Amino acid sequence: MNLEQQLEQLAKERHGKKIKSCTDAQLYDCVLQLTKDQMAQKTIIGGKKKVYYISMEFLIGKLLSNNLINLGIYDELSDILEKHGRHLSDIEEAEPEPSLGNGGLGRLAACFLDSIATLGLPGDGIGLNYHYGLFRQVFQDRLQKAEKNDWIQKNSWLTNTGISFDVCFGDRKVTSILYDIDVIGYQRGRNKLHLFDVVSVDESLVKSGIQFDKSQIEKNLTLFLYPDDSDEAGNLLRIYQEYFMVSNGAQLIIKELKERGCDLYHMDEYAVIQINDTHPTMVIPELIRILTWEEGFTMEDAVNVVSRTCAYTNHTILAEALEKWPLAYIEKVVPQLVPIIKELSARVAKKYTDPRVQIIDKDKRVHMAHIDIHYGFSVNGVAAIHTDILKNTELHHFYEIYPEKFNNKTNGITFRRWLLSCNRELASFLTDTIGDGYKTDAAELEKLLEKKDDGRVLDAIEGIKRQKKEALAAYIKKREGIALNPDSIFDIQVKRLHEYKRQQMNALYIIHKYLEIKAGKLPARPMTFIFGAKAAPAYVIAQDIIHLLLVLEEIVNKDPKVSPYMKVVMVENYNVSYAEKLIPACDVSEQISLASKEASGTGNMKFMLNGAVTLGTSDGANVEIHELVGDDNIYIFGEKSDAVIGHYAKADYVSREYYEKSPVIKEAVDFIVGKQAMKVGHKENLERLYHELLNKDWFMTLLDLEDYIAVKDKMFADYEDREKWKRMMLVNIAKAGFFSSDRTIAEYNRDIWHCG
Ligand SMILES: *Cc1c(COP(=O)(O)O)cnc(C)c1O
Repeated sequence: MNLEQQLEQLAKERHGKKIKSCTDAQLYDCVLQLTKDQMAQKTIIGGKKKVYYISMEFLIGKLLSNNLINLGIYDELSDILEKHGRHLSDIEEAEPEPSLGNGGLGRLAACFLDSIATLGLPGDGIGLNYHYGLFRQVFQDRLQKAEKNDWIQKNSWLTNTGISFDVCFGDRKVTSILYDIDVIGYQRGRNKLHLFDVVSVDESLVKSGIQFDKSQIEKNLTLFLYPDDSDEAGNLLRIYQEYFMVSNGAQLIIKELKERGCDLYHMDEYAVIQINDTHPTMVIPELIRILTWEEGFTMEDAVNVVSRTCAYTNHTILAEALEKWPLAYIEKVVPQLVPIIKELSARVAKKYTDPRVQIIDKDKRVHMAHIDIHYGFSVNGVAAIHTDILKNTELHHFYEIYPEKFNNKTNGITFRRWLLSCNRELASFLTDTIGDGYKTDAAELEKLLEKKDDGRVLDAIEGIKRQKKEALAAYIKKREGIALNPDSIFDIQVKRLHEYKRQQMNALYIIHKYLEIKAGKLPARPMTFIFGAKAAPAYVIAQDIIHLLLVLEEIVNKDPKVSPYMKVVMVENYNVSYAEKLIPACDVSEQISLASKEASGTGNMKFMLNGAVTLGTSDGANVEIHELVGDDNIYIFGEKSDAVIGHYAKADYVSREYYEKSPVIKEAVDFIVGKQAMKVGHKENLERLYHELLNKDWFMTLLDLEDYIAVKDKMFADYEDREKWKRMMLVNIAKAGFFSSDRTIAEYNRDIWHCG
């Protein structure tokens, strides 16, 4: 049977209809089934050594179009649907987006799975199957409200494997059930994403919003990702989740090793476990526990083989994000790990007296990253500058002990999703212009540089950008009810809301421009400022920043004198699907974190690949983007990371001084609590944010504000030199090849994993 006949049969069997009379949802169900059947026929990628990428998050996004692209049947299926009067793009809209991640870290894990399979390496993901995942964001009264995200439907990408393990906690035992999602490489074979669930999970525990009884672990364990951890019950639940994931992961890995005939004393020749940030750290003591309790290993042998098997990726230097669990919490949740963690800690204490490298500190807190560094064989940062900061500052004491463990792996993104799928127009233009070698060898994008003076090519790139801006404007009109002008500059900042990412600095720029226009200083071209961001429910100031953005949206868009020149949009529920619509339409990519704080960023890479020009600080992978495109094709501003680290060390940054000496800063900050804002917004939120900026401003917004305004103004002026701008777009696309996650994964495999 050909694809068309298969689809006709599925429509008949499952819905008793012809293709043309199915609803979009019914047709999605059929296409999903068809795609799953095609994927199941792909052979499982084999090899002696396999990587297990273990992560609390996999922000995989919708899977249909990517799977069709990787299977090589996207165009064929699209044509079949058209023949029956249907559009694949409508069917794609009917797919719910899996809600298994927060932001960059989870998205990275998803890109990595795609690249591992595409490079033909045997490698599976291990994570949790959250039923409601990360919350769905809605705006009410210009505030963020969190709702459960009910994404799992009857027919989905999940397959129940029937595999099940017991997991013992101090106070109860639960039984797991394993669901798998197939991962297909681009024109390659198949790996798996393993997602563990508890059999006793109970969705009815969730009453309103994202509230639930945190004590009923066997019912709530896999309901939410990152439940509110502002109290003890939330923290304990988080440890329950982490242990549940690693215990299942360890049992699955050992089961697979035994099935493959591996002698566990040599498990490092058959498996490597990449620990994605500290959340899965307990896999180390758990494996040691299993080997010593159940496989007859001595402690010495178990520690040695596990240390040769596990590798750790650091994702942040933010102190509050580095997990330090009170030993008492671990004792309560998983008492069986406590003697092992104490033993690991004692071995460190015996060799090293420096308190900064201990596993259990004097306050009886367990430093999870320290377990990874002492008992893993590799420690990697995620961008060159980040790894340098780890070596020279944050983890310097560890670097002195283990220089050979430290290495850099600059993050990447999968070009299948972030170019071939989200920007088919650009991808097909590139294929026509430089051939399709870039699809498997991203470095070939550089061939585009030969065309940098070719007017036809430059105009085509501009034309595609224009088309994507029109498409985004139509989508935003439908979703948010705000009309945008595609002739305006699209300036976009989309990413999790955090003070270090400094959405508040962008907001202050908008206030500044608003006041300029009110005073009669009109911009050369209208400007559109687009934001998208979720804030952790317990992160108060982040909620206040969202509130400010929504207040500005109201004030600016409703002001008849200003709105022809300027619009502000805060899109609701920013997620991967929204990113796929926003990024191809962007002119100015806002990457304005405080230098030293953004480990890498991957949003910056997606924008660059789609022809946006970066406005950024010398932080994370922006530094490498800058090196690749050169000074003429990027806009860099702000203090460098050394200076910022110096300010922290000397504690000499006083935001109020910047406020008092600059009338421009003062005017913008005062606007937050001025009459106009107070009329539209809430006093409590606006005043709290104002005082935070004036009295604390931990992430130094005001330090860089004047430079930000100057450089952004220059950038907007340059946008009017269309020839120059088009060339900048071309250079950014041409130089983006380095940021393919295929390159990143090839490096992980060459230096750390040695799989295949
Ligand atoms: C890429 C991506 C991120 C990460 O963005 P950064 O700008 O690197 O923080 C977050 N969320 C979604 C939905 C993404 O696609």
